[in-house]
Amino acid sequence: MTSKDFKVAIVGGGVCGLTCAVALARSGVSVELFEAAPKFEEIGAGIGVGPNAARVLRDIGVLDEVLAKAGESQLNQRTFRFISGLEGHEVLFEYPGRPDDSGLGIHRASFLEALVGLLDPSIAHFHKRCTTVNVSPENPARYILHFTDGTTHETDVVLGADGIKSAVRAAVTSEPPGSRVAFSNTVAYRGLVPWKTLQEAGVKTDLTRRPVSFVGPDKHLILFPIKNDEVINIVAFVADHHIPIGSANLAPGAPWVSEVSQEELQKAYEGWGPDVVNILKCIEKPSKWSIHVVYPLLETYTKGRIALLGDAAHGMLPHLGAGAGQGLEDAWALARLLSHPQTNASNIESVLESYNRIRLPRSQMVWKGSERAGEIYDGCGKHGLSAEGIQTDGDGQWSPVWHHDMNDDMQTALQWLKDTGVFS
Ligand SMILES: Cc1cc2nc3c(=O)[nH]c(=O)nc-3n(C[C@H](O)[C@H](O)[C@H](O)COP(=O)(O)OP(=O)(O)OC[C@H]3O[C@@H](n4cnc5c(N)ncnc54)[C@H](O)[C@@H]3O)c2cc1C
Repeated sequence: MTSKDFKVAIVGGGVCGLTCAVALARSGVSVELFEAAPKFEEIGAGIGVGPNAARVLRDIGVLDEVLAKAGESQLNQRTFRFISGLEGHEVLFEYPGRPDDSGLGIHRASFLEALVGLLDPSIAHFHKRCTTVNVSPENPARYILHFTDGTTHETDVVLGADGIKSAVRAAVTSEPPGSRVAFSNTVAYRGLVPWKTLQEAGVKTDLTRRPVSFVGPDKHLILFPIKNDEVINIVAFVADHHIPIGSANLAPGAPWVSEVSQEELQKAYEGWGPDVVNILKCIEKPSKWSIHVVYPLLETYTKGRIALLGDAAHGMLPHLGAGAGQGLEDAWALARLLSHPQTNASNIESVLESYNRIRLPRSQMVWKGSERAGEIYDGCGKHGLSAEGIQTDGDGQWSPVWHHDMNDDMQTALQWLKDTGVFS
């Protein structure tokens, strides 16, 4: 039952759009979701949910379902161990954790499934690829979404959760579609391999319970367990940190994801230590991802009654495992602000501006931290790849991401709305 005099349309049903839809619907805001694909789906890979993102999921009331789909009774994931990727595999740094620094490693499809199960199916519309968002010619307070199938949808508020290639972003920036997306000069080889297979292949490093990063010159691997330690999520990065982001973009239309041969993968990591070589050999069908980011960073996430969230707003490098987490924080903040008792059709623009004021600086701080983390793991940090260097550069890097209290930001947003006379 809606308690508001406005309607919201979310474009994009990935983890961020879905979480936002569930959170809004639960707080009594009328919401409809438009997804380009024929159904909700995620790629076959794992995702790490940090402690901050887990708090948001708990607050929205969906954490138990997510844990249940992960097959876990509680948050299971601890802090990273950094190990040399080269011969000898010396442990370089154990990131110190607080007792509450617990997150979750989960298969992406299970994560999505948990959220889908909480959504009223009647509000989800598929095969709806949004092309443009225009102000309604009949009512300048409303927007028309245009879809590739020729249909349209009229609404009061538009939330763009349509990922890194966002179509809604152009309506916020007033720039041509495709602007603000750049190749990060980083590729990622991805795979999922049963832990048993890795052990049988002779991998000695324990990859269960605790995430591991094998670090080395210009490359690193991130590994963490999912499905109760039965499967290991593997991402192997190769980067060129000397090329500025955005100066070596892929040719227009070139695919961002492709299947690659084992030979390519082995060649990329030639000369690395035995555990790394053995881990990579076990990936049956490796895929290669050219990682793109939002760049240059946006000056604003909102325009009028349109707001961006998730990768559409701040697609970032994945080196802190925090991109989706930032989108979940966006979803939480939007739901809290739009469902606030004093929010109504006449003040939404200011309410979205308060969202922008708290979310833009925080998510862009994490964007920059993620870039820095990649440099550290690849030996381009200030103090290099020694144990001391990694510790000096990496110690505390997750603290601003994990230990930040979103309720403080909410107070800041509400205070600004009061100070400007929007809320009493
Ligand atoms: C290698 C790698 C590892 C990562 N690991 C982590 C991690 O461990 N932890 C973490 O927090 N983050 C991680 N991330 C980042 C995370 O994957 C993203 O931040 C997150 O998936 C973004 O979610 P989203 O919902 O904003 O966008 P998406 O997941 O891209 O979803 C967008 C949705 O919108 C739909 N869509 C697109 N265009 C349109 C349109 N025009 N109209 C309608 N629908 C549309 C798409 O079909 C899709 O369903 C990683 C990223 C990479 C590349």
